[in-house]
Amino acid sequence: MKHRKGIDLTGGRKDCGQPTYVGEAMDVMADVTRMMQWECIGGRCAKCEREAWLDRWELQRGRSSIILSEVATRLRCRACGNTAGNKVILGRLPRD
Ligand SMILES: [Zn+2]
Repeated sequence: MKHRKGIDLTGGRKDCGQPTYVGEAMDVMADVTRMMQWECIGGRCAKCEREAWLDRWELQRGRSSIILSEVATRLRCRACGNTAGNKVILGRLPRD
């Protein structure tokens, strides 16, 4: 079984709709598994400022908890390959 080490900033999640950008994650200790369903998690590259939304369910698969600071350290930019200093961003899905 392969273990993915990095999280690609691929963007365009089909099941995550088009989230409204909320801002950079302030509370890096926040637990992804305890966040609300309409909250989206993304990443921003520190080098080229590319932004992309992540698949939360992929992040937390097989995990009882995963905090945002841990997500941040695993981010890898698809465009430039940067893995250092990338930020976690938060978004919100329309609730209907
Ligand atoms: Zn980049």
